[in-house]
Amino acid sequence: MAQPTVMTVRGPVPADELGITLAHEHLFFRLDCYYSQAEDDPDGTFATGPITPDRLWWLRSHPFNSRVNLAQEDLATAVSEVEHYKAAGGSTIIDVTTVGISPNPAGLVAVSEHTGLHIVAGTGYYLATSYADHPATDQSTEELADEMRRALLEGMHGTDVRAGLMGELGVGNPPAPVELRVLAAAAQVQRELDCAINIHPAWYRAGAETAVQAVEAAGIEPRRTMISHLDVRFLDDLPAYKELARRGYWLSLDTFGREMYYPHANIQFPSDAQRIQVVLGLLEAGYGDRLLLAQDICFRTDLVCYGGHGYAHLLRTLRSRFLQSGVSAATFDSILTDNPRRFLCGE
Ligand SMILES: [Zn+2]
Repeated sequence: MAQPTVMTVRGPVPADELGITLAHEHLFFRLDCYYSQAEDDPDGTFATGPITPDRLWWLRSHPFNSRVNLAQEDLATAVSEVEHYKAAGGSTIIDVTTVGISPNPAGLVAVSEHTGLHIVAGTGYYLATSYADHPATDQSTEELADEMRRALLEGMHGTDVRAGLMGELGVGNPPAPVELRVLAAAAQVQRELDCAINIHPAWYRAGAETAVQAVEAAGIEPRRTMISHLDVRFLDDLPAYKELARRGYWLSLDTFGREMYYPHANIQFPSDAQRIQVVLGLLEAGYGDRLLLAQDICFRTDLVCYGGHGYAHLLRTLRSRFLQSGVSAATFDSILTDNPRRFLCGE
C-alpha cells in the first residue's frame, strides 16, 4: 500500500515525516475585520501608533483596538518567529489563514524554504464579515466548491501552491447565507477528496453549538473535521467537549498562551492551567485521540519579538507543565504528532 502523504505548500510529504505539528496557526495575517476603536483610546493613539513596550499591556488586553497589532505581513518576522518553534523541536505548522484574513501562499512557501519547516495551508473562507467585498459573497455553492477544489488540486489564489485542507471556515451566529454555502461546498469537496476541514465558530458556547449544527446540516464528516477555539468557547465545561468527541469531531484547544480578558467581546480567556485540566479530563475519558493543540498566533503582541508567547509556547513553556500535571511525555508528544497527522490524512 502506498505510504500516505500530506500536501504541504512545497508539495507532498510522507505523513510520518510531519513530526510535532501545530494544528491552528497564522504566519501572515490581517484581521482588519475585527478592528474597532476602544473607548479608552478616544484620539486613536493606540489604534494607529507603533507597538512599544509601554503599550504592550494595553494592546494585549485590547488586541482588536489597534490596526498595527492586527496585521503581520513581513517575511523576515515570520521566519524568525517560527525559528523559535523549530528550535524547540517543532516540525510542521498548519496555517489556516483563509479569505478575509489575508492568505499568503507564496509567503508560506518562502517561510518553509527559509526554515525547512513543513507548512500545510488551508483554503476557504473565514467569517463572512471579513470578506464582504469579495466576489465569493455572491457565488453559488458550485462555484465555491470549484474554488476550494482547485486550491487543493492545482493551487491557491493564482499560485501553484496547493492547500492541504479546507479552513478555517468561519461560521457566524447566526450563520450568513454565504457561510452556509461554503459549508455545503466544503462537504461536497470533502466527499470527493476525503480532506480535512477546520471550522471557526463564533464567540461563546452558543457560537460553537450553532457552528456544529450548521456543519451537520451541510453533511460534513465529523471524523474529518476539527472545531477550533473550543478552549475559549466551552471553557472548562468537560461534558460539552465530550459530547463533540463522542460525535467524532476533532477538539481543538488552540489558544494556549492567551489568558486575557477582552473588554470589547466581554470574554475572559481561560488560563493555561485550566486548559491543561480540560486536556487531563479528556484523556481520562478516553478522548486523547481526538485532541488538537495550538496557539492561534494572530496578533503581533503574540509574537516573541513583541514580548509574546509565540509559536514555541506549547513546547518551550508548557510541555514540562503538562508532564508535571501527570501527562506522560509519550502522550503529550503523541497528541502533537500522531493526532494532527491522523487529522490531515484520515485514520
Ligand atoms: Zn479562528
